[in-house]
Amino acid sequence: MSKADENEFKPSRRGLFKVGLTAAVGAVVATCFALVPRRAHAAKASKTVAMYQPKPHGNQFCANCIHFIPGKTPQADGTCQVVEGSISPHGWCVLYAPKA
Ligand code: SF4
Repeated sequence: MSKADENEFKPSRRGLFKVGLTAAVGAVVATCFALVPRRAHAAKASKTVAMYQPKPHGNQFCANCIHFIPGKTPQADGTCQVVEGSISPHGWCVLYAPKA
């Protein structure tokens, strides 16, 4: 047997089958990940569940809560990271968490 013969690529049927099977499984998994919609954000709580109220709770109100996303002006309604819908900067709910 010559040196050229030793270096010749001689794939076995079993080896080719393993490579093909691995590639096929990888393609299926990649396709599944691509087709499954991902949720960009976790679902928000409803105002009812969060016991939202459009007025402060003592000195606690949305404008000084870490979850509040302000509106266009300081007095305008904004949104909340954890409660759905339009949120008053003067509102409050049980998920209130003060800004540090
Ligand atoms: S978590 Fe509650 S208190 Fe805080 S911003 Fe959202 S609605 Fe307002």
